[in-house]
Parts: sequence; structure tokens; C-alpha cells
Amino acid sequence: MIEARHITKQFKRVLAVNDLSFDLEPGGSLALWGSNGAGKTTLIRCLLGVFPCKGTVRIDGIDVRRSGKHARARVGYVPQELAFHDDARLGSAIRFFAELRRVELIQAARSLEAVGLRGHESKRVRDLSGGMKQRLALAIAMIADPPVIVLDEPTSNLDSAGRGEVVDTLLKLREQGKTLIFASHRPDEVITLADRVLVMEQGRLVQQTTPEALWPSRSSIRSMRLYIEQGDEYRAAEILREGGYAINHGNSGLTVAIEQHRKAEPMNHLAERGIGVRDFELLRDVHDDDEPEIGIATEQLSEVLP
Ligand code: ADP
Ligand code: MG
Repeated sequence: MIEARHITKQFKRVLAVNDLSFDLEPGGSLALWGSNGAGKTTLIRCLLGVFPCKGTVRIDGIDVRRSGKHARARVGYVPQELAFHDDARLGSAIRFFAELRRVELIQAARSLEAVGLRGHESKRVRDLSGGMKQRLALAIAMIADPPVIVLDEPTSNLDSAGRGEVVDTLLKLREQGKTLIFASHRPDEVITLADRVLVMEQGRLVQQTTPEALWPSRSSIRSMRLYIEQGDEYRAAEILREGGYAINHGNSGLTVAIEQHRKAEPMNHLAERGIGVRDFELLRDVHDDDEPEIGIATEQLSEVLP
């Protein structure tokens, strides 16, 4: 359904996507996994042909560069940042997009039905919960019944109830045979929704794998935060990355995901290379569905073993 070959996108100074190729069969579900800045959003935009990129993308056999409009008609896209008029009612919002895409209103109603929003047409957008807003975006993306749905971190701004609603909705769409590509920061989501994972780092595809291979034993993965001597953080991140650890280098230290019974390994690995760890703390289990502790960004919790 999707055939991507040698996709490369260079911004002025940054090689955001670096020679990345993959195939996705009809009905398949692919997760894009990687730290902030790994290139997930840029890859998605290249797939959709929204800006010029090197390489080729075919969607349902159609070349995105040559026939962008036709190719994009096969894809429903849900961007990370949603933009709706807060005053609009849900019914008029979906009607607007039905007219824009020249589809029958009955199709718009079906699309609302598919995301569980039938009956809410008179609600204003500003009164919708985060999960409902995200489902409305999904309904709009699916209004012309495209075979492929592409989502950029569909749950990143949602609480756990909202995440559950969105994941359940996407599961149903998978059951209906839709092909899915989504970027995510959450292992639980990837395990539930994806059958394949592209692990990206600094624009490169470093691993093409399955959720089961990435997280062999769901319960035993822990995230821990390492506090490194100041000035050594970047080197520590580099060393751990090269050592095969999945890390996230955020504003407040390095987060490493590690199997429960191997928690000392990353520290030993660093010590052997002359880098001291000042302190560490264990974060919540990456598979717990609780909200993260105050002050800890969700995205920093969910990097795990490759
Ligand atoms: P992700 O979605 O995985 O967080 P992005 O695709 O947003 O990553 O970004 C990949 C890299 O490309 C980052 O270094 C980012 O700063 C850079 N980048 C993204 N968009 C632009 C842009 N429009 N102009 C310049 N650099 C960009
Ligand atoms: Mg992104």
C-alpha cells in the first residue's frame, strides 16, 4: 500500500530524514518510534508530499510526486496540532469538510459514526474533551473513506481516558482493514496498534522490527533517569546510544529504558568509559497507564530497549 524508497529531507542545517526506505502492505499498521527530533513528523510530511523531498513514495501504486493530489486522496491525515474554530459546532465542522472534499453528507455521518461521535453534532468544539477533539480530527481525515490513515502523535496531548478513546477507535479502524501509520511516544499504544515499528534516530532508520521484539516482556521494562556530571551529558547520550540503549536526552537529564533486572548496566557502561553518574531515579513503569509523576514529561518516560 505504501512504498517508500530513499526518502531524504535536508533542511538548511539539519538532515531530518536520511535515506529511509520501507514498505507497508495493505491493512498493515506501522509505528514510527524515536526521540523528539528523530524525524518522524518530517517523514510523515514527505510521505504525504506536502513539501519536496528526495526519493520516491508510492501510495496504492500512485507516485506522490507526480500525482500528489491523487495519492493524497487515498490518505486521511491527522496532524499533531489540531486547528478547529472553537465556536463551531461539531456538525457544521464536519459538514464544512464534507463540502470541501465533495462527499455526500451521509458519508460524513458514517465517518462520525466510525469514531463514535454520532449524536454529538450540536456540541461546540470548545466543549469537547481532548479525546473527542482528536476523534473529530480522525472523522474529518476519514471523511472520503481513504484506505490509509496517517497520524502524528495522535494521543500526545491527551489524558489517559482520551488516549483510551483514540486507541480504541483506531483499533476498530484497523479491524475494518484500514492501513495505519502513526508516530508515537508510548509503548502501550505501539503494542496495541502496530504490527511493525520503524525505530528512527537523527533521521536514520536504525531498526525495523515488531513491538514484541522491541519489548519482549512488557512488565519488566523500567525507565530510569540518570543525572550525569555537567558537561558530560551529550557524550553520555552518545555512548549509551552506541551501546544499543534506547535513551531520551531531554531538558532534565537522560532517560534510559532498561529491563527490570539490569538497572545497573547503563551506569556501568558509562563508568567504564570514564563518565560518572551523579544520581539516578527510577521512573514509573512505562506500561503503567497512570499519569506520569508531576514534572516528568511523558515523552521522557517511554524510551525503551531496542
Ligand atoms: P520528530 O517529529 O521526530 O520530533 P521532526 O521531523 O519534527 O522530528 O524534526 C526532525 C529534525 O528536523 C529536527 O532536528 C528539527 O529541528 C528539524 N526540522 C523539522 N522541521 C523543520 C523545518 N521546517 N525547518 C528546519 N528544520 C526543521
Ligand atoms: Mg513530530
